[in-house]
Amino acid sequence: MHLKQIELQGFKTFAKKTTLSFLPPREGRFPLTTIVGPNGSGKSNLSDAIRWALGEQSLKLLRGKDSADVIFSGSDGKGRAGFAEVSLLFDNTDRLFPLETSEVVIARRLNRDGESEYRVNGTRTRLQDIQLMLAQAGVGQRSYSVVGQGMIDAVLVSSPEERKQFFDDATGVKPFQIKRHQAMLKLKRTYENLAETEMVLREIHPRLRLLKKQVRRLEEREEIEKELRGLQHTYYGTLWYNLRSELNEVQAQFNTHNQKVHSHRAEVEKLEKTVGKMEEAERKEGTQDAGLLKLQETYRAKEAERRTVRDQEFHIQKEIELSRVRAQSNWAPLPLIDIVKELDEMVSIQQTSLKALKSIREISALAPLVAQIEQLFLRSEKLQKQLKRPAPEDVKPDPKLLKELGSFQTSLKKIEEELAKINKDINSYAKTEQERRSELFEIERSLRDTQRTLHEMTQKLNEVQIVLARLTEREEHLNREMEHELRARVKDVKQSKPKTLLSDTEVTTVRDRIDQLKYKMDLIGGIDPEIVAEYKETQERFDHLDTQVRDLKAAMKDTEHLVDELDERIRKQSEKAFKEINKEFQRYFKILFGGGACSLVKLTKKDLPVPASEETLHESDVNPALGKMDPDALEELEQRVKERSDRVVGIDITATPPSKKLKALNLLSGGERALTSIALLAAIMATNPSPFVVLDEVDAALDEANTLRFAEILEELREKTQYIVVTHNRATMEKADVLYGVTMGEDGVSQLLSVRLDEIASNGTTRR
Ligand code: ATP
Ligand code: MG
Repeated sequence: MHLKQIELQGFKTFAKKTTLSFLPPREGRFPLTTIVGPNGSGKSNLSDAIRWALGEQSLKLLRGKDSADVIFSGSDGKGRAGFAEVSLLFDNTDRLFPLETSEVVIARRLNRDGESEYRVNGTRTRLQDIQLMLAQAGVGQRSYSVVGQGMIDAVLVSSPEERKQFFDDATGVKPFQIKRHQAMLKLKRTYENLAETEMVLREIHPRLRLLKKQVRRLEEREEIEKELRGLQHTYYGTLWYNLRSELNEVQAQFNTHNQKVHSHRAEVEKLEKTVGKMEEAERKEGTQDAGLLKLQETYRAKEAERRTVRDQEFHIQKEIELSRVRAQSNWAPLPLIDIVKELDEMVSIQQTSLKALKSIREISALAPLVAQIEQLFLRSEKLQKQLKRPAPEDVKPDPKLLKELGSFQTSLKKIEEELAKINKDINSYAKTEQERRSELFEIERSLRDTQRTLHEMTQKLNEVQIVLARLTEREEHLNREMEHELRARVKDVKQSKPKTLLSDTEVTTVRDRIDQLKYKMDLIGGIDPEIVAEYKETQERFDHLDTQVRDLKAAMKDTEHLVDELDERIRKQSEKAFKEINKEFQRYFKILFGGGACSLVKLTKKDLPVPASEETLHESDVNPALGKMDPDALEELEQRVKERSDRVVGIDITATPPSKKLKALNLLSGGERALTSIALLAAIMATNPSPFVVLDEVDAALDEANTLRFAEILEELREKTQYIVVTHNRATMEKADVLYGVTMGEDGVSQLLSVRLDEIASNGTTRR
């Protein structure tokens, strides 16, 4: 690879488009190009142009204050330029640039408005990609490929750390370092992403836990509900089935009795009609006894009275019975949760009352307390009533009803007595009349007997009717309860006989269990069904982030591995190259100085003062807890990222010219410094040659003998590197294959021209 051509326009004094071509290598040697010209003509601007096109960012090295200072600023004869552009055309047949073209053009352009761009073969390219490309081709952009005017001994005056940079270029590890740097950036970015993702994960976690708990409760509730529904089905099924069976049975009884009453009543009516007719006939015959007739009439009237009173008595009895059923079925236990609440409140009132009682000093203060305790007592009593299911015998019917029932019963008893007496009178009366009117009496007796039976039957019917009313009432109540408890399921429960019929004791235990389950459901309370959806969504998000964290951790490990690999490569290569450079440095030093000693010394971390920013890097040394951390924990990862940061290692140079004892570099003379630097440069070029090198007056401080030696060395190095040398030295010029002259006219614009060697004056400047 070598530089074929430079094209500049608008760059510093090169206002006009200027092209500088270089010869191709011949017979295994690269051409030496020298650039000559008077002071201030623009030679150094040319080397600046190459440096700039390679991506130089340092304004100081570009000898400017502002980035726009590289653009031609105008002169008396020519207006300022709007942009600066430099393009370097390289031969790439050896593919040192990792591109598939045999020529590569690297161009940089800057407009006055600040717009800047780099192009590689006409395609816009990022600076960092160009830097990597150049590093891969072995171009030391900042250090030795372009050595600016007066910069030859820069490596001697710089700090050990800065020198390290120089040697990184020189040992050819730069491309790995660039890759390492990119990997480290990636590592840091990945770590930042990881930290951020973990933070989100930590934020979500409590919510997820809460949702999980709620969903578990919801499931628990569903289980309880399932059990409850099953139990309710059997429980109400049993109650309903039993009640219905009983009702059917009683209804049947009622029907039978009712029929009997009906037939007896018809019999009575028939007999009454017969007796009526016979009595009518007797009256017409005049044989009827007035006394008997009266008795019979009284009997009938009493009987009618008895019927009315009995109807009333039955009505009252039914009322009383129903009031008992209602009182029982209306009782419903308080939900446990309410009971606990009520008890809690009562206990708290008791506590305050007790406290007040203890601190009482005056008797007058007792009255409000008594009222409070009375109130409490009423509350307890009420609660007690609500908790106890009343036994049927405990239900006190309305006393008014009882009183009425009593009076009916008394008058009924009286009527019965009267009827018995009349019956007796009639019977004794009948005895005397028996023979005469035996037939009538017989019928009348049978009428009375039938009436008695009817009366008994009616009584029986009433009893059955009461039972029936009681059952119907219970049915209604059960129906209401079922509607309330089962809602839509009522139909199912009523439809068929339950699979299991509960016994009476089972009914009670099942009822208790139902209450218990309902209480549990109350405790769990209502849960928003949206929770399940939210839980699912949050869990999914959590899982996603969790996977992301794992992926990021894996990515970090991969990158760390890459960094380690690069570190190992850098270490090996730099060690090897450093050794060789050191050897060559000593050789060239001896050639240039005719003796003496020099060396390059590697400085490890221990040899250099630790910069403040690095002091915190080794927390794990100080804090043993950090050393034992989970290798995947965030802090540990952060620690590892920090530890992989570049460890600065400096380079020291010692140089002792022959017959001198000094060691400190700053005690060397200007020429000695230049010679030492040239020796170092030559050492680097011998071991790790750059494809091209631009040297701007590096021989300025050399005496004649040393200029010759320098020229010799250049001759030697030309086998591996293309040299573009700015010089005023004739000895150097004489070695050139091509010589360019730079001149500047009145208009302050640099111009290029080929110069013949004989045009050069002995002091190295061109004659006009
Ligand atoms: P020497 O032999 O003394 O080293 P030289 O040929 O290297 O001289 P340069 O340093 O290349 O000279 O040129 C310097 C000249 O370029 C100065 O006169 C400076 O004013 C001029 N110059 C620098 N930047 C610009 C610019 N942006 N526009 C116009 N002129 C500029
Ligand atoms: Mg110069």
